[in-house]
Amino acid sequence: MTTASNTSSVPNASTHVLHRTSLATPPRAVRGEGIYIFDQNGKSYLDACGGAAVSCLGHSDPDVRAAMHAQIDQIAYAHSGFFSSDAMEELADELIANAPAGMDKVYFVSGGSEATEAALKMARQYFLEIGQPDRKYVIARRQSYHGNTLGALSVGGNMWRRKQFEPLLITASHIAPVYQYRDQRPDETPEAYGLRVANELETAILELGADNVAAFVAEPVVGATAGALAPVPGYFKRIREICDQYGVLLILDEVMCGMGRTGTLHAIEQEGISGDLQTIAKGLGAGYQPIGAVLVSKKINDAIATGSGFFQHGHTYQGHATACAAALATQRAIKDRNLLANVLKQGENLVDGLQARLGQHPFVGDIRGRGLFRGVELVADRETKQPFDPSLKINAKIKKAAFARGLMAYPMGGTIDGVLGDHVLFGPAFIVTEDDVAKIVDLFALALDDVF
Ligand code: PLP
Repeated sequence: MTTASNTSSVPNASTHVLHRTSLATPPRAVRGEGIYIFDQNGKSYLDACGGAAVSCLGHSDPDVRAAMHAQIDQIAYAHSGFFSSDAMEELADELIANAPAGMDKVYFVSGGSEATEAALKMARQYFLEIGQPDRKYVIARRQSYHGNTLGALSVGGNMWRRKQFEPLLITASHIAPVYQYRDQRPDETPEAYGLRVANELETAILELGADNVAAFVAEPVVGATAGALAPVPGYFKRIREICDQYGVLLILDEVMCGMGRTGTLHAIEQEGISGDLQTIAKGLGAGYQPIGAVLVSKKINDAIATGSGFFQHGHTYQGHATACAAALATQRAIKDRNLLANVLKQGENLVDGLQARLGQHPFVGDIRGRGLFRGVELVADRETKQPFDPSLKINAKIKKAAFARGLMAYPMGGTIDGVLGDHVLFGPAFIVTEDDVAKIVDLFALALDDVF
């Protein structure tokens, strides 16, 4: 294995790629092996975040590669308006066999944002099918992210991502997330706190008029906007109750927190409820192919199937055979290798390691999350929980320092409207070992030393 160096030059950079930022050209990823990515100079990067909690099997998994090759050797793609495929049918069966109660069908798409769009449109069409056309409003939570396309951005609560595009967005209302570290009052139990914030949904529904509300959207464990915020006991049970009472659909966004990342296949399993629609992506195909899906409950499917019989939506690459083959092999690997047990075990090692090394760090406010989905919140003052001034760009500096040391950690934040503070998200592959976890903690602590 090549040792990490502190520099990495980019030869012959094209002038034609529009990268995420025009301020710098990233190194080129030329090879992946397990939890490591190698660039064009042979420098290795320990992928402690799976990109964006995607690469849950690590890189270059032989079983997934073989399944993709086998599929391509037969047929890589056939348009879903004409054909199904063995891979699509078998993947749907596999997903429904292991889905939360009530889920009956799988609608395939190419990623998380597309899954959100499809779920929102399906919710709207459901109400048209059952003769409730006034139901059009969607309620979501602040400190949430549901994707970057316009519908998904509209329901997301990340103000930084939304700000420039507000004039293009559809109306959505936002209530409080579950954010224990900042919002639970000293005299409140977690359960009482959960009830208080869940009841905000009822208030919002009544303000909009119950007959006008179509759906409530929430990530069971919040990822990209707030660094692994987990719910408190009873919160989602109360949310389910409120949705049922007012006939509002519950859309669970498990694009980031799902498919094993929190230690159970679906994060919502730990809350003892099911949604009416549930989005999944990222870990579904582990990054081997772009794929997402909406798990559709029987109630919704029946209404459409016995109504118009046609969900008025569709994308060119939905149900892509090679993507489905990659996802099927990924899901079988997770099951056959008993990887969820490792997610729980190494998740505990990771949080223990972070606590031991950084629990008393003057700028570490909170360490949280579930399974191999862990967040660290950085603050300027531990006593007051005062976030850093966003102009300091603390999370960007940490990302840069970690990357220079050969560690990929996922930074988020900036104190911009409801987005509080700087967070770093860890979401390593489910195959990590105790030694890998110790190395992640060590490199991250050194990166913090570089910044502070
Ligand atoms: N929903 C959640 C919870 C996410 O974290 C993301 C991406 O980070 C999305 C939706 C959007 O997914 P994608 O980037 O695949 O479009």
